[in-house]
Amino acid sequence: MSEFLNKNYQKLTPYTPGEQPKDVQYVKLNTNESPFPPSKNTILEGEKVISSLNLYSDPEMRNIRLQAEKTLNVDKDCIVFTNGSDEVLNFAFMCYGQNGVVFPEISYGFYTVFANLHNIEQTKIPLKQDFSIDYTDYLNLNKLIVIANPNAPTGKCLPLWQIEEIVKNNTSIVVIDEAYIDFGGESAIELTKKYKNLLVTQTFSKSRSLAGARLGFGVADKEIIKDLNTIRYSTNPYNVNSVTLALGLGALKDNSYYLDNCKTICQNRDYLTKELKLLGFEVIESKANFVFATCPNIGGEELYLKLKSKGVLVRHFNIESIKEYNRITIGTKEQLDILIEKIKQILGEKL
Ligand SMILES: *Cc1c(COP(=O)(O)O)cnc(C)c1O
Repeated sequence: MSEFLNKNYQKLTPYTPGEQPKDVQYVKLNTNESPFPPSKNTILEGEKVISSLNLYSDPEMRNIRLQAEKTLNVDKDCIVFTNGSDEVLNFAFMCYGQNGVVFPEISYGFYTVFANLHNIEQTKIPLKQDFSIDYTDYLNLNKLIVIANPNAPTGKCLPLWQIEEIVKNNTSIVVIDEAYIDFGGESAIELTKKYKNLLVTQTFSKSRSLAGARLGFGVADKEIIKDLNTIRYSTNPYNVNSVTLALGLGALKDNSYYLDNCKTICQNRDYLTKELKLLGFEVIESKANFVFATCPNIGGEELYLKLKSKGVLVRHFNIESIKEYNRITIGTKEQLDILIEKIKQILGEKL
């Protein structure tokens, strides 16, 4: 740290992204990316704009917002696109965190980073014993509420009626982070038409094969979208580059390709769950593109390290209550078969 850094930031612990190793070719099941490439039409759409990169991107994002009206069934004035959904989440903390923020104790690690970054008082609510969120813990709080649904890293999902109860029973903004909603949950986007205090965020990083392009969005009442745009225009009006805007447009036009991939991921998730259970694992029922699993015969960190030494990366969290678990991204069937084979070897070596 330099001696010049603003003291507000001196104690900041930044978010730790999952490993993105470039040295060894791992079977990469640690950051919940899609194992499938973007569709051909998505790529063609992106290529079309490369020769115009001398011009700035469209700060109003007209094309993709009009396409979103068709594909996502949202009004173009009720959506904002951002540089990954992390950016719209950051904007939400800036806009609505003044009275404090509440989120589950075990959830996406960025929430606590954003709260610290903006000096927002944070309340973390423990999960129930079975790792589920008790929606009644989130009623009448009247602070900014942020819930990942499905939650990460557990993969557990709240039904829509419980989300609605939370939104109805707070006068503050409720953010539902739907990064994993396309893998089996029910989206709260329709509820944004009924409630003025609901912001739903989604990303193109998980179900739409564009993690490297960085594209996310928020859907809410148009006054909320105006607030978020105030922050966007006050930081970087060109927050999403033209190639990414075009890729996102292409992905929305080619929606069925991505929905089909999600179906495959869900089938692979069932397959992996079944195989892990046969090996003695406890696997939490997941509505996301990962499973959260623990094995009574081997420690969580030990399994993570041994898998890594055998070329398979999964995600382990050094957090007391979940340290015996690993979060495993659902890859292709071939990737999962390698994982299962390596786990069998590791467990065999312990006998
Ligand atoms: C991956 C993820 C995000 C954000 O991803 P972006 O790549 O920034 O769109 C947000 N929330 C959760 C819970 C995630 O897992």
